[in-house]
Amino acid sequence: MDRRAFVRHSGLATGGALLAAATTPSMAHNAVKTPFEVPATYIPIVGSDEKFPVRRIYCIGRNYAAHAREMGSDPTREPPFFFQKPTDAIQHVSAGTVADHPYPPLTKNYHYEAELVAVLGKGGRNVPVDQALNLVYGYTLGLDMTRRDLQRALGDEKKPWEIGKSFDHSAPIGAVHKVAQTGHFTQGAIWLKVNGQTKQSADLKDMIWSVAEQIAKLSEAFELMPGDIIYAGTPDNVGPVVRGDVIEMHIDGLPNLSVKIV
Ligand code: MN
Repeated sequence: MDRRAFVRHSGLATGGALLAAATTPSMAHNAVKTPFEVPATYIPIVGSDEKFPVRRIYCIGRNYAAHAREMGSDPTREPPFFFQKPTDAIQHVSAGTVADHPYPPLTKNYHYEAELVAVLGKGGRNVPVDQALNLVYGYTLGLDMTRRDLQRALGDEKKPWEIGKSFDHSAPIGAVHKVAQTGHFTQGAIWLKVNGQTKQSADLKDMIWSVAEQIAKLSEAFELMPGDIIYAGTPDNVGPVVRGDVIEMHIDGLPNLSVKIV
């Protein structure tokens, strides 16, 4: 069992003795005695035996003009805004599989949002746009699953929309593709189908704020760090799914991602 597998599975063991036996330097901070183990979150990296460690999940809102309009705002006047999902909201979905995705509690209007995801291998503060892509380790695709009824109701009440966006399993995601293998994603088709029927269809070049601009803006508000990932926003025609539906999403240059709502 390699070190990462050890960390992931150590919750099954009686932690202390095994952790104390770990001797690699990078494990040193994990040697702290704890009453129980909390698993870390990793995403597989295509073509590597390493896994990408997820630190924070940032998401940008209303980053395609048509989607901003359908959500009731004016895309020409709004600076980008961001929210976070908890790291353990990640549900990795292997290419070529259809993963079961649980319909969450409390909602009667559960929506898909197909998104490009940039993952960072470097950090920084106040990163200029023309240097921002140097932070990108790779890309993948993901779903920003949303309890739309709760998001809207909380927004209407000027309350945080946390439980509309930041719930368990709300971030299905594919494996990471290193930027050296894919290049940067500035254009190309992005689409999403439900039960084989096209629901969302757009081009990445229609993003209001590019990945580089998103990184630059985010880094004004937060110190970005390796392991941070950014869901880059969804095109228009978001909509509901129910149990039994199969979602398939695509971005040119990446393998499709599919989940079945259960
Ligand atoms: Mn989104």
